[in-house]
Parts: sequence; C-alpha cells; structure tokens
Amino acid sequence: MHFHGVRGTIACPGGEYVRYGGNTSCIELRFGPHLVILDAGTGLRPLGVELMQNGKIDCDLLLSHTHLDHIAGLPFFLPLFTKGNTVNLWAGHLAGQQEGLKQVIKRVMSAPLFPVPLEALGAKIEFRDFEAGTSIALKPGLTVRTTTLNHPNGATGYRLEYGGHSVCYITDTEHVGDRLDPHILDLIEGTDIFIYDSTYTDEQYPRYRGWGHSTWQEGVRLANAAKVKLFVVFHHAPEHIDDIMDEIAAAVRHARPASCVAQEGMILRP
Ligand SMILES: [Zn+2]
Ligand SMILES: [Zn+2]
Repeated sequence: MHFHGVRGTIACPGGEYVRYGGNTSCIELRFGPHLVILDAGTGLRPLGVELMQNGKIDCDLLLSHTHLDHIAGLPFFLPLFTKGNTVNLWAGHLAGQQEGLKQVIKRVMSAPLFPVPLEALGAKIEFRDFEAGTSIALKPGLTVRTTTLNHPNGATGYRLEYGGHSVCYITDTEHVGDRLDPHILDLIEGTDIFIYDSTYTDEQYPRYRGWGHSTWQEGVRLANAAKVKLFVVFHHAPEHIDDIMDEIAAAVRHARPASCVAQEGMILRP
C-alpha cells in the first residue's frame, strides 16, 4: 500500500510539511491484479499522473465520505478524462439520502465550481451507493466489510481482505466516550494493518468534542484491544507541522512499538 495523502481537513503546502506531507487522504492498494484507492483527497492527483504512464486503468475508489478533503483530488484525477479507463466510485454514507454519490459529485463538477462537467469525461465511471455496515463485492477473492463511523454527515470504515492479509481504513470518526467503539472493534479484530483517524491528541481532544475526529491514543487503545498487528496514525491535523509530528511519532512508538505514523510516499506491505 502506498500513501499518497495523509493530511486531514485541508491540504497543507509549505516547508513545515515536508517530512509528513501536505496532501489530503489518498491511499493506493494493490491486491494481485486489482487496484483499489482509498479516498480521493488531493493525493489522488499525483497518483493519477503516475497511473497514466502504465496504460489502461480499471480501479475501485472507496470513499470514506464526501467532505471536501476526501474528494478534492477527484476533479483532477487524470484517468477520468481518458476513454478506455474504468473508475468505480463507492460510498456508504449516502444510501437513502436525498442525493446519492453521483448527484453529489455532479454538483462538485459543475459550473461555476468546475469547468468540465461529468458527462464530458472520457472514462467509464460507475457510482455505487451502498449502506455502511454491509459487505461489498469488489473483485473475486477481495472481500470488503464496512461499518458506519461517528462523523457529521456520516462516514464509512472499511476492512479489505485478500490472500489471507487484511487492511482496515477507519477515518473520519470520533470515539464514543467511556468505551471503545464496538463497530470499529469488531471490524478491525486481528487485522494486519489498522489505519485510524488520529487528528488530535487526548490532551487536545476536549476542545474539539463533536467535530467528528479521534486521537492517536484512542487508536492505540483500539489496536491493543483488537490485537492489531500494525497501527497507523493517519489524517494529521493541519496544525501538526513536522516538528510536532515528530513528537507524536515518538510518543506513539513509546506507547505501542507496533505502530507508525503515515507519511506521504510511505509504502507498507501486510
Ligand atoms: Zn477528513
Ligand atoms: Zn470529514
């Protein structure tokens, strides 16, 4: 798995974000011949440029939700503009809502917000709404379980399994207080890699109650309780410049050695 964007809330360019990266959520996963992309944050743009060098593209793009930091890269994803490519977009928080995924993306990619309408794109784009909490069938041998997360306007957590290995992607979500979120615990049980919304520290969290995000300490508690192999700190706050992230990284490793902090460009293998 290749991390192309690890920042939360908004892209952060500049010299204070060089080591951990400023692009928002986007992770590339390869399961045998299958390409799966988690979220379409600004990290999706450079990934699209890279993909275009390798011929035709057929991918599944799983969205945690449609807040701007998770879809801002989509209008700039070059494979959408080329005939012969197939992009399947999945979201679990809009089923039964007034607008489904297609309507939401169409709204974003419309004048005067964006000059190129959805209909003008060359690729075959499929919009798939599903209900968070159900399993979805992406490709043979690739199972995907999902759960509802605790976030304003909803969000979906994913567990992907292929060839005996598993990866869990849990962002954006706020922990539920005096107990570990049972939905998340159930989903991440025994997983190889657990990526978690670690926007805040426990010390900062009381100021941001109700904003829909969690802490790296809660990630450690969940990872330990669910016997996760590797815990990955993800969705870094814009305020957390490189020097602060170094401090967080040291504290996380001290609290749970089998952990790491996501950095743009990082590659992990389960
Ligand atoms: Zn976010
Ligand atoms: Zn969000």
